[in-house]
Amino acid sequence: MNDMTSKIFSGPVTFLKSAPKLEFLPDPIVPEIAFAGRSNVGKSSLINALVNRKDMARASNTPGRTQELNFFDVGTPPLFRIVDMPGYGYAKAPLKTVQQWRYLINDYLRGRAVLKRVFVLIDSRHGIKEVDHEIMKMLDTAAISYRIVLTKTDKIKASEREAVEVDTMAKLRKHVAAFPDISVTSAEKRGGIDDLRDAVLEAVAS
Ligand code: GDP
Repeated sequence: MNDMTSKIFSGPVTFLKSAPKLEFLPDPIVPEIAFAGRSNVGKSSLINALVNRKDMARASNTPGRTQELNFFDVGTPPLFRIVDMPGYGYAKAPLKTVQQWRYLINDYLRGRAVLKRVFVLIDSRHGIKEVDHEIMKMLDTAAISYRIVLTKTDKIKASEREAVEVDTMAKLRKHVAAFPDISVTSAEKRGGIDDLRDAVLEAVAS
């Protein structure tokens, strides 16, 4: 990571707005980089580690509260925006909530020209599950390039991590919009954060 990268991520990052519906999206004036993942995957922790803050992104574990796209400006004026997408796969979420999530996400993915990349977070202990495939297919269809990020790698042994990496990369071959390589992170131990920052800036510039 160079000085420029650390300056950007240690500089001002501000919450812009929450959008529960598409009509509340901010004006598309800068590139957007979105983060998606199942509830509890470690998305808030990873976004906070990325921007060097403690509680920028909030964990929202209740199903009702997760149905919003949260926008954060990075830099003033903003160089780009981080978009915290609503967590999915919450076991107790009512069907209606799941459907609302699907509509919101589909509309956002299909209609957002400034959306440069989605980072799809996968818990390294579980690997890619059916619900993850669902969003990956949505991304393939919308032709939005995305990168898989394994989270919480401090919780597993190195040998297990290698196995999940191999398995994950094999599964990616079926997904046309996925990057073939993956990011490996631990928000807890700050592992892989610098590489992830580089990947974010590379996406902003793409
Ligand atoms: P979110 O629901 O996807 O936003 O997930 P959170 O960031 O709130 O994390 C869910 C739980 O996993 C919390 O208890 C975190 O402390 C924990 N967690 C998140 N990232 C890591 C990590 O890298 N390592 C470990 N050991 N725990 C983590």
